[in-house]
Amino acid sequence: MATDASSSMFPPWPDRLRHSAIILLAAGLALSALVLFGEVSPTIAAVVFVCVAGAALVPWRLHNAVASRDEVLGINPVEAAAVSAVVSGMPDPAVLLDRAGRVIHLNAAASQLAPALRKNELAQFALRSPDIITALREAIATAEPRRTTYLDHVPVDRWMELIITPVSVPTNFGGSDYCMLMTFHDQTPLRRVEEMRADFVANASHELRTPLAALSGFIDTLQGPAKDDAKARERFLGIMHAQATRMARLIDDLLSLSRVELSAHVRPDTLVDIVPIIRQVVDGLEPLAGERQVRIEIDLPATPVQIAGDREELLRLFENLVENALKYGASGGKVMVSLTSAASPDGAAEVRVMVRDFGPGIAPEHLPRLTERFYRVDVGDSRAQGGTGLGLSLVKHIVNRHRGRLLIESALKNGATFTACFPQIKTPAGG
Ligand code: ADP
Repeated sequence: MATDASSSMFPPWPDRLRHSAIILLAAGLALSALVLFGEVSPTIAAVVFVCVAGAALVPWRLHNAVASRDEVLGINPVEAAAVSAVVSGMPDPAVLLDRAGRVIHLNAAASQLAPALRKNELAQFALRSPDIITALREAIATAEPRRTTYLDHVPVDRWMELIITPVSVPTNFGGSDYCMLMTFHDQTPLRRVEEMRADFVANASHELRTPLAALSGFIDTLQGPAKDDAKARERFLGIMHAQATRMARLIDDLLSLSRVELSAHVRPDTLVDIVPIIRQVVDGLEPLAGERQVRIEIDLPATPVQIAGDREELLRLFENLVENALKYGASGGKVMVSLTSAASPDGAAEVRVMVRDFGPGIAPEHLPRLTERFYRVDVGDSRAQGGTGLGLSLVKHIVNRHRGRLLIESALKNGATFTACFPQIKTPAGG
């Protein structure tokens, strides 16, 4: 912290007075000697002494005039130093003001947040937000706490909450006075979470309402105009089945996502061999591959590859990646699934499972957003494929819980490669 509790509120004025006294004593002695030896007349010596005295005392008086604010407050210097130290030590931006709104002390975080704030200057001039100024004026006028929020645009958008608390300070004269403690709290993460939650609820309701509306529409039709139309009934029941399946899948994905999120902070600690897990996923998706006329090629080691993992979550993860490759990359006719060992950017050994397809690929502008909930490159295509828009979000959460990384590489017309990387476990066999 670039703050100085010792020199802040109460300058060491007795030291300054001592300096003046030493200067005066020295001047007095020198002039007396000169008068004694007849070098100067007593009158001249007296005039010179008055000048020296003035020169020695005026800076001290001037200094005291500047410090008069502290004198008025009359705070005990020990307490003042303690107050300054507390302000300096606060993790959030904090500013201590006097009753007039003049800055007595501010910490480094506050200087960074509002560089225009200066000691001994009115805070009102340095803070541009009208809401802050109003809150400050009110707090000063009423000696009651005030709270306000504002949006700081520089250097990035940040939601800040400002709390102004009048604090009572005992004075030297046995009474008490008050200062204003102004603290700033960054509310941006909370706001973001709140926005995400609202978006999520809106998206989830929309996704559920669409198939639900289709189901109600078909029920009405079957009860009314198509009541006796056996052919239409068959067709509609087929569509209703597909919509109901989509709803079930969506709810399933939502529940899985919330389960993984709830346990995000707990890293799985069971050792699992991921080779059979990948095989099981590929075997289970062979019928879909046959339906889409895609060949799945696998390149897996013959020996076990253990990681610290959750079997069910890993099944879900690979299922999503291989299923996406089969659904969206079907035109490439081939999907490759391989497992390798490599070093992460920070040099740690990791196990990489790569799922590659040779389909249309994904345009670069979509890549950073693919793992957002409900984000889809082509909503119609995803719905037609029975997608929920939650698959890759779930994949990302599962990878994160395993303390791994998800790499996505793709270029239009060149297929897509999704790689899930997991930290390698050092087994006694070195596997
Ligand atoms: P969905 O349920 O829609 O499949 P995902 O989260 O699994 O949701 O995928 C999000 C979107 O990413 C998909 O809608 C699709 O547009 C795109 N996508 C995912 N995998 C691939 C792939 N292998 N090739 C092309 N696009 C893909």
